[in-house]
Amino acid sequence: MTHLVIRTCPTCGSRRIRRVKRDIQSKRNGETFVAKGIEIEECPNCGERLFSPEALEAIAAQRTRLQKRPRARKSA
Ligand SMILES: [Zn+2]
Repeated sequence: MTHLVIRTCPTCGSRRIRRVKRDIQSKRNGETFVAKGIEIEECPNCGERLFSPEALEAIAAQRTRLQKRPRARKSA
């Protein structure tokens, strides 16, 4: 039993946790980074967001991809 499924919100105890796709913002070294289309569990009751190991991996993967490609866009 290695697959962890979260069904109860650790914050408010609601059992209505559901899986949604979100753009996740995170900060690292003062830079804001957005990972798009990440599947997370979200509590519709209190707004708590729970990140599965898969979600964290997906975020890390997008971050790595971003770092390999230097920003070409210039804000004029
Ligand atoms: Zn909750």
